[in-house]
Amino acid sequence: SYAVGIDIGGTKTAIGLIDSAGVVLAKTSLPTDQSVQPDEMVDRIAKAVKELITAQNMKESELLGIGVGAPGPLNTKTGHIVKPPNLPGWWDFPILKSLSRHFDLPITFENDATAAALAEKWVGAAQDAEHFVFITISTGIGAGIYTHGKLLTGATGNAGDVGHFVIDPAGGKCVCGQSGCWEYLASGTAIARQASTLLGREVSSKEAFDLAATGDVAIKELVDGVFRYIGIGCVTLINTFDPELLVIGGGVSQVGAPLFDAIRDYVSEHALNPSGRNTTIVPAALQQDAGLIGAAALVHMTY
Ligand code: ADP
Ligand code: ZN
Repeated sequence: SYAVGIDIGGTKTAIGLIDSAGVVLAKTSLPTDQSVQPDEMVDRIAKAVKELITAQNMKESELLGIGVGAPGPLNTKTGHIVKPPNLPGWWDFPILKSLSRHFDLPITFENDATAAALAEKWVGAAQDAEHFVFITISTGIGAGIYTHGKLLTGATGNAGDVGHFVIDPAGGKCVCGQSGCWEYLASGTAIARQASTLLGREVSSKEAFDLAATGDVAIKELVDGVFRYIGIGCVTLINTFDPELLVIGGGVSQVGAPLFDAIRDYVSEHALNPSGRNTTIVPAALQQDAGLIGAAALVHMTY
């Protein structure tokens, strides 16, 4: 049995047909064109979904449903995209109503980090965990929380918006209006911004990590500071949810060992309770298709 997964992002929307084992049978993607009305963009997405189904010699009626992952804030109760900073063309857009113009299938909708957490539970690094937190460190920082064998989604699907934990109130001003939010200080965007300021030229987060690894002292200090901020956020999550496991994904996590070693060191020193100190911390298993598989997981998995 197959589900459609739709992963809406600020620059592109990925679409796939995913089977009940989490295998992507077919996929495609299209640019998220924010210069057109979102209804028009949904028309394009629906057309691409229908083409994908036809190309596999399937019929819509054979499918289990459609899962949609989108950046938050959103409202899963009303089916609206609310106010994602990187999707300004879609603010207050009733996406479920718009999609349902095209399909006679159940449509499930959650924020992208929550969906990615469910994907890690389904076929990724958290298959055996009953209590875990998935953290994505990418353009921003987000989390999906899985506790007592269930996803914790909150009243409107916005639980896990941990990028706006205040880590340092003396830090700079975040899009949310607070100062020193976790993602303002430690996302890929934040690393690139701080490294660029330090070197007086455009530096990506990847380049900052490379420079730190090859012995640039000032950049190493910056990167170590960011890793410490990441550790602080992880300890807060551990203290809040008492998880068995943290799963860390997103572009920044690709730096690998230096990040994971730093987080494990920080957690082992600063989580107060003995189990928290020993929380297992692992990289996400799903990278490429995490968003798609997460969207389909919303259909295939009971949560
Ligand atoms: P998105 O935020 O659109 O989901 P990603 O998860 O790829 O996308 O995250 C993008 C961020 O991660 C950017 O800030 C980018 O600089 C950073 N990034 C991507 N790949 C790497 C890498 N290999 N090493 C360090 N940072 C990376
Ligand atoms: Zn914020």
